[in-house]
Amino acid sequence: MTKETIRKLVLKFPKHLIDRPVVYHLVKDYELMINILKASIQPDAEGILVLELSGKKENFDKGLQFLRKLGIEIQPLSKDIKFDEKTCYHCGVCIPVCPVRALKMDKETHLVSFDKEKCIACELCIKICPPKAIKLVI
Ligand code: SF4
Ligand code: SF4
Repeated sequence: MTKETIRKLVLKFPKHLIDRPVVYHLVKDYELMINILKASIQPDAEGILVLELSGKKENFDKGLQFLRKLGIEIQPLSKDIKFDEKTCYHCGVCIPVCPVRALKMDKETHLVSFDKEKCIACELCIKICPPKAIKLVI
């Protein structure tokens, strides 16, 4: 019996690949099943797709190889993002970069909060946070 593989992944698409039918190829050429959990495409930026991918192990590996060859970055969704409210300046710099609006500023208190349920661990906020209040815990 062939082993099935199921994984939740975050795919980061470079700008020039956003219009390409990449998901279609995973289904048609590699017989993978896809459940799109979240998608975010920002103009003039990379596209982010969070999906559950399943299929025969061999096809699964070939499918990921196909994505990597195209230049798509793949990371498991299991990575955990931690927001340290005490270190945070509440400057709001991270808010516009978050593709899924997991970071918000309260209109009255001007305090920034983090919604773990929405976060797709894309790490974009980590790179720009001045005091490193957002961290990746693996
Ligand atoms: S890692 Fe940061 S930017 Fe990315 S989804 Fe989570 S909170 Fe938003
Ligand atoms: S960029 Fe960093 S310091 Fe500024 S609001 Fe976001 S988490 Fe806080």
